[in-house]
Amino acid sequence: MTKKELWQSILAKLQSQMSPANFSTWFSNTSVAETQNDLLEIYVPNNFVKEWVENRYYNQILKILREINSGISQVKFIVGRVNTNIKERTIRSSKKNKLIEENQLTLQNISIDPKTNLNKKYSFENFVVGPFNQLAHACCVSIIQNPSSSYNPLFIYGNVGLGKTHLLQATGNEILKRYKNLKVKYIQCERLISLIINSIKNQNIEEMKNSLLELDVFIIDDVQFLSGKEKTQEEFFHLFNFLYERNKQIIISSDRPPKDLSIIEERLKSRFEGGMVVDISMPDLETRIAILKTKCKERGIELSDGVLEYIAENIKTNIRKLEGAIIKIAGYKQIYSENITIEKVKDILKSYIDHNGKATLEKIIKVTAEMYDVKESDILSNTRKKEIVKPRQIVMFLLREELKMSYPLIGRKLNGKDHTTVMHACKKIEDELKVNKDLYEEIELIRQRIYC
Ligand code: ADP
Ligand code: MG
Repeated sequence: MTKKELWQSILAKLQSQMSPANFSTWFSNTSVAETQNDLLEIYVPNNFVKEWVENRYYNQILKILREINSGISQVKFIVGRVNTNIKERTIRSSKKNKLIEENQLTLQNISIDPKTNLNKKYSFENFVVGPFNQLAHACCVSIIQNPSSSYNPLFIYGNVGLGKTHLLQATGNEILKRYKNLKVKYIQCERLISLIINSIKNQNIEEMKNSLLELDVFIIDDVQFLSGKEKTQEEFFHLFNFLYERNKQIIISSDRPPKDLSIIEERLKSRFEGGMVVDISMPDLETRIAILKTKCKERGIELSDGVLEYIAENIKTNIRKLEGAIIKIAGYKQIYSENITIEKVKDILKSYIDHNGKATLEKIIKVTAEMYDVKESDILSNTRKKEIVKPRQIVMFLLREELKMSYPLIGRKLNGKDHTTVMHACKKIEDELKVNKDLYEEIELIRQRIYC
């Protein structure tokens, strides 16, 4: 079996395990390298997809890979592209994109220390502090000054793209720099979960725990992924206590506060709450401009204040997105060496900014319909077809959540639905979200597209 065939089989299996919209979002633009080793190297279009696929689908892919039993047991995701799968609109724009992507590729050439899982690119020097993240930053600084005897555990929460991973990693890097004898480990919660699951299976959980004993600082990113995994949570709880009792510094991040981690054992929640809980909120305009300036400096480009303001005014909720805008402009500038005016930036970021990142009725309907591959008119219609009912309920839920519309108003906007129908739909999605991770991901994705 060639690697291409192998990847095709994995894709076929994956496709049967997830919604068409999710599948096409994350896997339609992937390709595989025909290398002569026992590693499956998958190319993905950008860092965002890479992180997402690694975080959410890695285990699923490994499982399928094992089932196929091709002799290959490892997968690696690489940002870039081998070939073909990307549909090219016009030759000119594809050439432009290709060059821009290549440029991104070199910029993203990063190094992760396998012992600590820390990436040196995250430091405090390139971390901008503003009112939105000041407290979280101060807590980390305090931990750096007194590991294990300042805040323990430290629990940092905030929406995606607001710097949790950066702050956690920078803290780890800084501790290593200051205390040569301390051992630090950073781990994505999903990875930790799979370690725990494997140790349960191999009955060597004690060994695994003991292997962590040598650590002084344990950093766990994105613990919301523990939701709903009972057995794993139990082991996680023991692991947590084990380290905590031995006075190890523990730093945790999540996309929401402990109390909103819905399907997490109470005792685990109270453990998280037992230390310091801080949030990272949204950066204000001034801070967004400061962040853009830092990113420009890193990439060696200069943009006028007007251009920076334009970007900062239009991208408000996600620092990764701010960074992405600079990468796009830097790529453009490198190829065309043109002066970058506001008009030019508007053009370059046209699809990236998309309706100024505001949620509107139209946008919620459009994005949801696209995501589930149904017609916008179906959402407004009264059809009870299952494939339409779900997206329609999600639209109602999002109108309520994002636009704070009343039930009767939502009913009226959706072509005269009864307010009790709307209420029922919102409740249904809320309940379902507590137990269904796929749905959670789908809705997160819709949100991101709405606000991007
Ligand atoms: P999260 O983990 O919260 O989703 P990340 O830490 O991955 O977010 O941040 C997304 C991107 O934004 C990263 O490239 C990171 O370096 C950058 N970033 C986030 N916060 C800041 C900040 N305060 N200053 C500079 N860059 C930041
Ligand atoms: Mg993160």
